[in-house]
Amino acid sequence: MVEPEQRPLLEVEQCVTSIPEDHEATCWGCGLRLVFASYSPVYKCGWCGAITQSNQTARKPDSICFSHWRRLRDRFFVTVLVFFMLFVICGGVWAVYPIVFSISKFCGILHCMVTAMLAVFTISSYCLASFKSAGAPTNIRWGSYPMVGKNDLENYTFCTYCNKPKPPRAHHCRSCKMCVVDMDHHCPFIGNCVGASNHHFFVIFLISVVISCAYAAGMTIYASYQMWPSVDFPNLASSHQSMSYMKILLEIITTVAGSAFFLSARGLVLVYLAFASLSVNAGISVLLCQQLSYIYEGNTYLNHLSSPNAMHGERGLQNIVRFFGCPYLISRVFLRYSNAGKLQDNSGSKLL
Ligand SMILES: [Zn+2]
Ligand SMILES: [Zn+2]
Ligand SMILES: [Zn+2]
Repeated sequence: MVEPEQRPLLEVEQCVTSIPEDHEATCWGCGLRLVFASYSPVYKCGWCGAITQSNQTARKPDSICFSHWRRLRDRFFVTVLVFFMLFVICGGVWAVYPIVFSISKFCGILHCMVTAMLAVFTISSYCLASFKSAGAPTNIRWGSYPMVGKNDLENYTFCTYCNKPKPPRAHHCRSCKMCVVDMDHHCPFIGNCVGASNHHFFVIFLISVVISCAYAAGMTIYASYQMWPSVDFPNLASSHQSMSYMKILLEIITTVAGSAFFLSARGLVLVYLAFASLSVNAGISVLLCQQLSYIYEGNTYLNHLSSPNAMHGERGLQNIVRFFGCPYLISRVFLRYSNAGKLQDNSGSKLL
C-alpha cells in the first residue's frame, strides 16, 4: 500500500490540474470564481461565506392579482376575527353580569374591571401580532468583491423570489412576499408571518387567550350553575338499590339534559360559552406549550421541521428571558436559577 506522502509528484499535479470548466462557478455574494467538486450541489465561498446552490434559478414571481387576493383574504379574516372576539366578550358580559351583580356590587365592578383588562390585553396583542411586520432582513451589500468583506455573508443563502441575500434561519413567505428573519410559521389566524419582530406578541396573545378562556369558563360555569332549574330524580329515589352504577349515571345525565329545555336564553348562551371557552382553552394551551418548548430550545417551528434532531444553540431558561426581553431584575433571577442548575449538573458529572 502506498502512503499519500510517497505518491509521485506528477500524480498529485494531475489531480489539481484535471478540474474541468464546469466545476467552476461565480459566488453570488462577492462575485469571486469558486472551484468545487462536481458531485456537490451546495458550496460555500471561502471569502464572504455565502452559500450557493448549483441548481438554483430565478423563480417567477406570483401574479399581482393572486398576491393582492391573498393579502385581502388575510386582512378580511383578521377583521372578522376581531369583531367575533368583541361579540363573544359582549355576549359573555351580557350573560354573566346579572349573576355577578346579584352577589354584591363590589364583586360586579371587580369582575367588570378584570374582563375589560383581559379583553384589552388580548385584542391589543392580537392586533400587534397581526399588523406588525414579522421582520424583514436588513439590507446588506452584496454582488462584487470590493464591496463585500471577509465573512460578511457568513451562511447567507440567495432568495430566488426576492433576488436578495437571505440570512441564516430566515425563510421566504409567499403569502407575505418577503423573507422573514427567524420565521416560525405563517399564521392564517393573524394573517401574518410569525417572525423575529412579532413572535413575542404572538406568544403573549396565546398566553392572554389561555388566561381569558380559563376565566370565562370559570365564570360561565358558575353562572350556569346558579341559573340552572332545580332538578329532582324521582326514578333514582324509588329504586336506587336495584340499579347499576351505569344506569344511575345515565339517569342523572338524561334528567340534567332534559332540564336544560327549561333554561332561559341567557342560560343557553352561558352553557354554549362554557363549552366554547373550555375547548378553545384546550387547543390554544397545546399550541402555547409547543411554542414555549421551541423557544426554550432556541429553535423555531420551521427549523424544527427541516432538521428535527439538530441543536440550534444552547437550550435553557436564558432563551425565554431573551425572547421576552425581561427587565434586568427578572433576568438576573432567571439566569441565576438556570446557572445553578448547570453547576449542579457539572458537579454531578464530575463526581460520576
Ligand atoms: Zn463569496
Ligand atoms: Zn425572499
Ligand atoms: Zn407570511
